[in-house]
Amino acid sequence: MRVSQMLVPTLREVPAEAEVVSHQLLLRAGFIRKTASGVYTYLPLAQRVLKKIMQIVREEMDKQGGQELLMPIIQPAELWLDSGRWHVYGPELFRLKDRHQRDFCLGPTHEEVITTLVRGDVRSYKQMPLLLYQIQSKFRDERRPRFGLMRGREFIMKDLYSFDRDEAGLEVSYQKMHEAYINIFSRCGVQFRPVEADSGAIGGSSTHEFMVLAESGEAAILYCSACDYAANVEKATTQPTTGPDPSIPKLPLQEMSTPGQRSAEEVAAFLGIEPTQVIKTMFYKTNQEVVAALVRGDRDVNEVKLLNILGALTLELADEKTVEQVTGAPVGYVGPVQLKNIRIVADLDVMAMTNAIAGANKQDVHFINVNPQRDFTPEIVEDIRLVKVGEPCPKCGAHLLEARGIEVGQIFKLGTKYSEILGATFLDENGKERPIVMGCYGIGVSRTMAAAIEQNYDQNGIIWPANIAPFQAIVVPVATKDESQMKVAEELYHTLNQAGVETVLDDRAERPGVKFKDADLIGYPVRIVVGKQASDGIVEMRQRRSGVTEMTSVKDVVTKILELLPTL
Ligand code: ATP
Ligand code: MG
Repeated sequence: MRVSQMLVPTLREVPAEAEVVSHQLLLRAGFIRKTASGVYTYLPLAQRVLKKIMQIVREEMDKQGGQELLMPIIQPAELWLDSGRWHVYGPELFRLKDRHQRDFCLGPTHEEVITTLVRGDVRSYKQMPLLLYQIQSKFRDERRPRFGLMRGREFIMKDLYSFDRDEAGLEVSYQKMHEAYINIFSRCGVQFRPVEADSGAIGGSSTHEFMVLAESGEAAILYCSACDYAANVEKATTQPTTGPDPSIPKLPLQEMSTPGQRSAEEVAAFLGIEPTQVIKTMFYKTNQEVVAALVRGDRDVNEVKLLNILGALTLELADEKTVEQVTGAPVGYVGPVQLKNIRIVADLDVMAMTNAIAGANKQDVHFINVNPQRDFTPEIVEDIRLVKVGEPCPKCGAHLLEARGIEVGQIFKLGTKYSEILGATFLDENGKERPIVMGCYGIGVSRTMAAAIEQNYDQNGIIWPANIAPFQAIVVPVATKDESQMKVAEELYHTLNQAGVETVLDDRAERPGVKFKDADLIGYPVRIVVGKQASDGIVEMRQRRSGVTEMTSVKDVVTKILELLPTL
């Protein structure tokens, strides 16, 4: 392409609405324009990047035996009523009616459509494993669309669904996708980590999120400084504290006046001890009950873990009034001893404490010498706490480090959740009818484009990894009026394209400074400047990422670029 003909409306100013780098640069470099909140038009350069990412995705899906299909965006409400999700999906689902007042939605995901499809056409174990995928626009009416392409209301996703006869088959499909995702994100040139994520009540390590590490990421991750353990904070675990230490005598339970001392820190400071000696009692309201959750005073409750352990649908901190009703004491003085009529969930580490401090369920009073088991008995003892940076890795004991991540993909073992509800069964080797075992695997294609920028930019603009760059090279003639320069530039432009290097020619009658600025902003991996020395057959070749610049003879340019590209 000739730059004079391209629709690349670059901007000099940073658009005010854009908070994160990728949003700013995609707007400034002329890749996207907003059509509505969370809804964007991909201009030609963006479309080229997206197509490259999609091509990589397709190749890796196909390599694992995936078959591409295309399902409708518009989905009838009946499918969602059948799965039970019409009423639980909530306001994120874009709903609409047809002229006959029948309900439809715009697909946020396709479990319903594909499970119903497979139910009709897959009958025998011989037809599995089956890996079906599509790449398509998805619609979610996000509560807070933001950060440009990161959290859109319309976005491009690859979604693959696996169908297997049993858990062992699902495990194989899952591992195939795990491998495919590693290949995809590596080829896209981003730094990423697969992390264990929360899979709801299903438990186990049956879901991984693929996180591009970046400051602007919405997810917090903990990862091991020594081994490959990585998990998002909701899922992260550590090694449990050992104890109680039997050599420490358990002292008699005793009340202690603690006027005005409410938080674990305040009580600890008041009594001249460490917060690690205090039992923190938190009250939560679920859709079914009020529960007390106990963690050590220096720690916080992991609400996701707690919700899963309770098997509840919703969980929120109980208000002060509820706490008073349940305990008879104001917040700050509540504790597990003599607590009646509600379930107590204790963190593993609480059970390892000896002679601890806890609220006495009386205003301005705490108990000292509280000993779990002796003084109270929790209904549930589990890991319910948030793990913090610096704690030991659950696998190898080395220190955990923290990072922020952008979720670009997720793989998930669904099991028989949808096949049972929607009746997708098959006949096994013995002619017995069984539900199909499913998995689902998403990649945010448009989010991946944005995430790549979050990791690859400098003050001058985007630095595209060569594999997903909209074009790989730009040829910039310094003086467009100089015929000999233009001739060299034109020739280079053609030879490069013929050699398979996607190249543009900046033929605009602009000052060189303007062209260089635009080239840097857009982020072409290689820039070739055709200037005064062109008449001697010499041009300048510059790498966008390193800034390394060399003078090279025109006839060597193609070979040099072809050598260089895989390294950029
Ligand atoms: P998030 O927690 O970020 O909302 P999700 O768990 O809802 O993501 P999935 O349903 O697993 O996402 O969708 C698969 C992939 O689609 C995600 O890993 C992400 O890359 C992408 N994605 C999800 N929601 C959006 C969105 N609103 N805009 C852009 N990409 C998205
Ligand atoms: Mg979401």
